[in-house]
Amino acid sequence: MKLILLGAAGSGKGTMAKKIAADFNVPQISTGDMFREIAKKGGELGEKVKSLMESGALVPNEITFEVLKQRLKQKDCKKGFILDGFPRSLAQAEMLQKLTDIDAVISIELPFKQLEQRLVSRRICPKCGDIDNASYQGYTGNCRKCGTKLFQRDDDKPEAIKARLEVYKKDVTPLIDFYGEKVMTVSSAGSPDETYAPVKTFLSKLEAKA
Ligand code: AMP
Repeated sequence: MKLILLGAAGSGKGTMAKKIAADFNVPQISTGDMFREIAKKGGELGEKVKSLMESGALVPNEITFEVLKQRLKQKDCKKGFILDGFPRSLAQAEMLQKLTDIDAVISIELPFKQLEQRLVSRRICPKCGDIDNASYQGYTGNCRKCGTKLFQRDDDKPEAIKARLEVYKKDVTPLIDFYGEKVMTVSSAGSPDETYAPVKTFLSKLEAKA
């Protein structure tokens, strides 16, 4: 099953991708995670990617596509994959179409005001990647799973958030038209499990048909 997940930062896209990956046995491919790894490694490319990400801008298409192409060639993608964070523009969707066909697109929707509120208080565990929220009751500043001190991503700071949401609005909305009938839209106003339930039903039917 070859899937795309669309959703602005803070929509719960990463959480949803993990659930789909576990239930449908396909790898989650997050271009954002891949770029964070590249930025961590440093060097000329790493430094460039790091500064773009910190400012909330997109990494240029040539770099993004090359990174993705190499990842999709790996063995674990033979049975399918779930793309999280790609495509982010019509140009990227057109590039992807030259590589492979997509079975379905899940678009997660939430009003921008709510996205902003979620993002400014989002905190991440540097060790296990768990995501918590400083506005939740019982928040301690340490990871609920492994106890490590949580941190705030540089691009979750208010100035970068605005830029990211603007970029998202401008570039991703046309993708909904591009993928047409393949798109399933879901609201993430409820809990992660409530958001995921209709998606699981939709994908189970899709899988049964294949
Ligand atoms: P994310 O974790 O998906 O919010 O991505 C974090 C950052 O990585 C983005 O703000 C971009 O700078 C970069 N990035 C991730 N995916 C892409 C993509 N498909 N095209 C260009 N830049 C990307």
